[in-house]
Amino acid sequence: MDRDTFREWSRRAADWGVDYRDGVRDRPVRAQVQPGSIAALIPDAPPEGAESMEAIFADFEAKILPGMTHWQHPRFFAYFPANAAPVSVVAEYLVSAMAAQCMLWQTSPAATELEVRVVDWMRQALGLPDGFAGVIQDSASTATLAAVLTMRERALDWKGNSAGLAGQPRLRVYCSEHVHTSIDRAIWISGIGEDNLVRIPTSGPLRGMDAARLEAAVAADRAAGMIPAGIIACIGGTSVGGTDDVNPVADVAARNGLYLHVDAAWAGSAMICPEFRHYWHGAERADSIVFNPHKWLGAQFDCSIQFLRDPESLVKTLAIKPEYLKTHGKDGIINFSEWSVPLGRRFRALKLWFLLRAHGLEGLRKMIRDHVSWARRHCERIRATRGFEIVSEPMLSLYSFRHIAGDDRDLDMHNLSLVEKINADGRIYVTQTRVDGRVAIRFQVGQFETTTADVDFAYDVITEIAGSLN
Ligand SMILES: *Cc1c(COP(=O)(O)O)cnc(C)c1O
Repeated sequence: MDRDTFREWSRRAADWGVDYRDGVRDRPVRAQVQPGSIAALIPDAPPEGAESMEAIFADFEAKILPGMTHWQHPRFFAYFPANAAPVSVVAEYLVSAMAAQCMLWQTSPAATELEVRVVDWMRQALGLPDGFAGVIQDSASTATLAAVLTMRERALDWKGNSAGLAGQPRLRVYCSEHVHTSIDRAIWISGIGEDNLVRIPTSGPLRGMDAARLEAAVAADRAAGMIPAGIIACIGGTSVGGTDDVNPVADVAARNGLYLHVDAAWAGSAMICPEFRHYWHGAERADSIVFNPHKWLGAQFDCSIQFLRDPESLVKTLAIKPEYLKTHGKDGIINFSEWSVPLGRRFRALKLWFLLRAHGLEGLRKMIRDHVSWARRHCERIRATRGFEIVSEPMLSLYSFRHIAGDDRDLDMHNLSLVEKINADGRIYVTQTRVDGRVAIRFQVGQFETTTADVDFAYDVITEIAGSLN
């Protein structure tokens, strides 16, 4: 591509992006295609000759776009949001144009130094004490893997990487029943093994783990000759927002010398608002905390911050060149590739810097507060509507409900087909979960451009489609 063509298509892509965002409200939120239908439009073999950008771009619009689910749609109420605020998109154009590998300080000093700064900005914004350093990982899954590997190495006196796990006593990691599947994966990949992930029963309105049972499990494992290694607490679980009371969990960790990792991947963004910080009281006592600015806050994927009380133990776990340990951080040089599993790293700090400056914390707090209050109002409207019941109360901007069919239909099947009908309709997008074994419909408000009218519109669509099933 010559430079004039590069310029032309860069401009067209940027214009396209703006028009796309302007028009996204009129598209069905979830892609309305059958499995295999997009692949059928793509040739089996790669082209031998060059094709024109006109042809490539036309195919993008005709063949690819219809197969996209629109995560930036203001009526996206499914999963959790994956917000890409326009200003973070602009930052990503620049990052993509420079395409630097930011694994060492010297491979892009600005990337490393800005990362240190914006991670500390976020630490202050979330009300965490100084003494936490941090790193931007690609995803919460990677951050949790890094935490679990550190737990493992600490528990094995830093010998797991060299000696492996064979012949070692069994390591044990503890969590609630509500943790994300990324915890299971971290346990598999670290070699600890799913059988050694101990799920502590939960109780109470927030569905937190029972600290007395946690302590008893740790003691029993130790008595049985196993090595308790760490605890993973969850703030705002993916299903219905299950949240551990961190202080009693941190007490157990402290009494037993266990590493404590807090997964606040989604809910962490809300901690920029002081009035929501009661949800994670005690998180400041953790060894590491992960939260995803790429979910609710608006820094587009990928951007997951792992705060660390003692980065040395992470570096000791992951740095491939031990001599770097001696100087790391002390002379102002941080090589962030030693803080994460992959070597190569994108310049992720730039979009967060742009986002925080363009909106200011007050702007972002207003968005979060609006979402929380709109979700609560939506919940009250559904509660007051005949034929519906609330399954889980709002945790920040997430709650779940179920429709009660007017006859003796299987309620799980009925609610699954209601979800499918709503999503096939395309005006809004919701997803289902299971709560105490029964199907519930999750509803979360979190998309960057959502308005109060969109949330009211969702109520109309849900009640209209549920009515048509009766
Ligand atoms: C989304 C989520 C994750 C996984 O986040 P990724 O960044 O996609 O790996 C982990 N834990 C919780 C609670 C989440 O909501």
